[in-house]
Amino acid sequence: MIYETETRCPVCGAKAFRYVEFLYDVPFFGNVLIQSGVCTACGYRYFDIVYADAGRPTRVTFTARDGLDVAKSLLIRSRTGRIYSPDLGFELEPGTQGEAMITTVEGFLYKVVDYAERLKVLEPEKADVVDAFIQRVYEKIENGGFTLVVEDPQGKSFISPYRPDTVQVEYLDEGQAGTPPQ
Ligand SMILES: [Zn+2]
Repeated sequence: MIYETETRCPVCGAKAFRYVEFLYDVPFFGNVLIQSGVCTACGYRYFDIVYADAGRPTRVTFTARDGLDVAKSLLIRSRTGRIYSPDLGFELEPGTQGEAMITTVEGFLYKVVDYAERLKVLEPEKADVVDAFIQRVYEKIENGGFTLVVEDPQGKSFISPYRPDTVQVEYLDEGQAGTPPQ
């Protein structure tokens, strides 16, 4: 941690906004500055990622071999990041689902389960399909054996792996993009 302060909340004005900045050294990406704040009065949260270098469009492919890879690898996602898993069959687009986050891959998959639960409320006729999906996600959290892909036109989203060889980084401006996902 490099900087920590308690200051006035930009939303409610109470002097209860706890703000921290820290540098995080990410393999392949170098230092990024994480900014995070929470107001203990009104609950307002702030989170952003400041990336020193001009971002290049990237695709990060992470293959979780087992539960350890899931529990100990970190996902850092900026507002422009798109996350999908071809074998789990989901996709989170920037925009409405575009909240920035720093979490373990495990924590992220629990978020995916939350989204799925919400979908079940909105579309109860799909409950069976959604339940099967949720079961599959739980199984993958436990045992690994899936791929997670993070694409970001600004190169601000990435996965910091527990085991370095589980991550592959492609720069999409080098014409080595491969086949775009369907
Ligand atoms: Zn506040």
